[in-house]
Amino acid sequence: HNEYFQLKDKDVWSLINETAAQTEKETGVKMVHLGQGFYSYSPPDFAIEEAKKALDIAMVNQYAPTRGRMSLIDALSKTYSHYYDHALEPSEIMVSTGANEGILSCFFGFLNPGDEVIVFEPFFDQYISNIEMAGGKVVYVQIHAPKDFNENIVSGKDWTIDPQELESAISSKTKMIVLNTPQNPLGKVFTREELTMIGNLAVKHNLLVVSDEVYENLYYVPDRVRIHTISPEIDERCLVVGSSGKTFAATGWRIGWVIGNKALINYVAAAHTRICFSSPGPMQEAVAGALLRAKDNGYYEKSRAAFVNKYKIFTSVFDYLGLPYTKAEGGYYLYVNFHKLQIPDNYVFPDLFLKSRDFQLAYWLIKEIGVVSIPPSEFYISEHKAEAKDCLRFAICKQDEVLQEAVKRLKKLK
Ligand code: GLN
Repeated sequence: HNEYFQLKDKDVWSLINETAAQTEKETGVKMVHLGQGFYSYSPPDFAIEEAKKALDIAMVNQYAPTRGRMSLIDALSKTYSHYYDHALEPSEIMVSTGANEGILSCFFGFLNPGDEVIVFEPFFDQYISNIEMAGGKVVYVQIHAPKDFNENIVSGKDWTIDPQELESAISSKTKMIVLNTPQNPLGKVFTREELTMIGNLAVKHNLLVVSDEVYENLYYVPDRVRIHTISPEIDERCLVVGSSGKTFAATGWRIGWVIGNKALINYVAAAHTRICFSSPGPMQEAVAGALLRAKDNGYYEKSRAAFVNKYKIFTSVFDYLGLPYTKAEGGYYLYVNFHKLQIPDNYVFPDLFLKSRDFQLAYWLIKEIGVVSIPPSEFYISEHKAEAKDCLRFAICKQDEVLQEAVKRLKKLK
């Protein structure tokens, strides 16, 4: 087999989902799933309607053009052109099979063996495998935790990067910087100052910026900046990635997109063509319709308001327990610090959960109260895993009732 894939290193998503399923089977207790970031509810009616209509168009059921169906390219142009100084042309847009494959195509389109890619830590784990599969080498730059996080509620902006650390991570082999804002798992929305600093370094050192903005519509601060809008010099090196799954509560539809300078998109599209040729036709048609309807039906504002309320419901239990968390500025995760919580000394853990205290916390919560979360040390390299040993990430893209049930169960930890 390809030595990259060591089966013993089960990915965190499968490990947690399988443990939860197994526990549910053994105990009969229905789990409250706040682990992997999938929605517990359906896409909005208008998106479902568009999806149902799509299947009736005979040709959508055949291969789509590799860069995407014209209807979706056109809807994306109508959705995003106002961020640019011109109407986006088809050559500046590529549809991908989920944002995931769009990001993979950015790596495969540009990385040669040995090229270095800067990734901020904690990171969404998929970037690492995708960069390494393309022969790239990841260079990590930390997003530093606020000093008082064991004691106090903090905010995304209190997690900071050191400009000097970033610049000294850049070498002659550096090809790109991967950015994720709103950030998974912290819920940090990078500020204009931070993005200007990152963008200007990319210009100075002639680097590409892959900006994963899949949570772009879910932000709870007044100013959510897209890095490419800061200057034309930054814009010409940015590949901005978006997601219908995150936008329309449809993570199974697997439709994402990459937008950027057409000379860059050519290479992303060349890789994409060889990875999957094209993306699901009916779902592209559905997303095209949904984007056009969402432009002026108030959907984005309504989703944001719904998520503000979800955070209110869910954070209340950590206020009650006196456990600090990072107030999310965007996205749909809550990053909670369980430093103060004791796990019983004699508790027995399976081997796969021995690696770090956060894995033990996650296991214990599944077994004892039926609440599923993700241990975030998986989003750190070995040397830094201790940073996350007391933390858990909860996904709150769930019905209010699911969050209320989680609150009820977590209250038992007092
Ligand atoms: N992006 C989602 C999350 O972080 C899903 C991750 C995945 O399934 N690999 O939970």
